[in-house]
Amino acid sequence: MVVVGGGIAGCSAALALAGRGVNVTLIESSNRLGGRFKSVEIDGLSRQIDPTQNVIFRTYSRFLQLLATCDARNSVRIKNSTSIPFLEVNNGEISYIESGKMPPPNHLTGSFVNANFLGLFDKISLQKALKAIQIMDEEIRTSQDDISFLQWLQENGQTKRAINRFWNPICKMALNIASSQASASSAIFLINKILFGRIDAFDQGCFTTDFTNIVSSSLRKTLNSAGVEVHLSTSVTSLFRDKDTVTGVNTKDRFFPAITVILCTPITATARLLTGSTASHKSHDVAEKLTKLGNTSQIGIHAFHEGPFLPVGTPFVTCCDEPLIQMLFDRSSEIDDGNRDGLPGHWICSPVAFADAYLEWDDELIKTEYQRVINSAFPEAPGLLDFHVVRINHSSTSLAMGSSRLRPNALEAGEGVILGGDWINIDWPSCLEASTRAGLVAASAFLKQNSVKDFTDWQHDDNWPDWPLPPDRGDKNWRTWD
Ligand SMILES: Cc1cc2nc3c(=O)[nH]c(=O)nc-3n(C[C@H](O)[C@H](O)[C@H](O)COP(=O)(O)OP(=O)(O)OC[C@H]3O[C@@H](n4cnc5c(N)ncnc54)[C@H](O)[C@@H]3O)c2cc1C
Repeated sequence: MVVVGGGIAGCSAALALAGRGVNVTLIESSNRLGGRFKSVEIDGLSRQIDPTQNVIFRTYSRFLQLLATCDARNSVRIKNSTSIPFLEVNNGEISYIESGKMPPPNHLTGSFVNANFLGLFDKISLQKALKAIQIMDEEIRTSQDDISFLQWLQENGQTKRAINRFWNPICKMALNIASSQASASSAIFLINKILFGRIDAFDQGCFTTDFTNIVSSSLRKTLNSAGVEVHLSTSVTSLFRDKDTVTGVNTKDRFFPAITVILCTPITATARLLTGSTASHKSHDVAEKLTKLGNTSQIGIHAFHEGPFLPVGTPFVTCCDEPLIQMLFDRSSEIDDGNRDGLPGHWICSPVAFADAYLEWDDELIKTEYQRVINSAFPEAPGLLDFHVVRINHSSTSLAMGSSRLRPNALEAGEGVILGGDWINIDWPSCLEASTRAGLVAASAFLKQNSVKDFTDWQHDDNWPDWPLPPDRGDKNWRTWD
């Protein structure tokens, strides 16, 4: 078995298969594991940092299982409650949407009553939409792929303010695309899953160190001890086919034979590997779909202040009515004491989701916008010592209208090849949870196809049976984000 691509998807596929006794070779073109989940060098900073904030939730249960199996539980802290703070930038007031004691879907309802960032009519309209989402039949949901989430919200009586202040930020944070362009089907799936799936689904988590620290050491060690043969700095140049069946991969100077190849590469690289004169029709069809899918970008704004300024107990805020400065995270308070070396001040990270319109803005313009927001909302904020902007093209697969139809199933590309990137058709948007699930879906497809002992079937909403369980609230084996 050859797995191509050593991102989270490829690593989870390789680990799952090796755990079932399959002989796995993992081939990764860069010199490290983790794929897009990596820290970066920044001019003027003496250490690497993550390109932008990485948001995880308790509902990312497969990703948390992966961390546990890699002995990396310490790298995250998770809140034991749900609390989403909404900041009104003009007056600095913060409203908290929090989970109460009622069972889902009503667990957030109580906190809306006291939330000042919305008016009465906004809240009434919002409850109506939340109810419609919660009771929506799956067939109806999937039929909404060709309309935008904004259109769906408007058709469901949402006020302008509820859209601007509640739905748009949630949509951008979760799907990395604006509601005017997002597939209503994908948005509704995610909101239902995260806000309503379980009472604790939206509990937020943070990373206590940079990605590279977690990934390169933990994943590598676990893959090694599972017996996976890892080839870094090795790019797969083509798939080898015997008639219509893939029977191996070529790199620049070597052929790797395989009964099956799992592709966990990004969409562009996958489309390239699936085309060529010897590729089957099925393979070409998948490549065509992937080419149409496309990506959306992000920007990471990293501001270093003389000290903290977000209120105690509020490690992040969502900024109302701000297209660029969408959220502020107190990154210094998230990371562990020993991991702050080399930071030029108290670190505030402002992730810009769906940043395509801002990629051309220069750093000074972005800094002016950042300072306007901080001066207005937190006039007493300690001075700014250092400021950096990281632009990330192609950070996630675009979930624009019509995208669900373009996401292929794991077995769609023909004989001998299984698809496993975060873009396969598992509904989840391109994220750490989607990539872990996609890798496991690919592994499970192989185990099922090859009648591996004691394996019959597995659905990605179930816990992966071979790995430690994901954490429930209060689980003492995991760290809490106080
Ligand atoms: C800046 C940024 C911020 C993000 N924020 C969040 C967030 O807050 N929360 C969240 O859940 N997710 C977030 N994501 C998304 C998440 O990181 C990705 O969904 C996930 O890491 C994708 O994993 P993957 O394994 O599917 O793909 P990738 O990570 O892209 O891995 C694919 C791998 O294939 C390798 N490869 C490519 N071509 C070849 C070849 N020919 N031969 C061999 N190897 C090859 C690549 O080098 C790469 O390592 C963010 C992503 C970015 C970039």
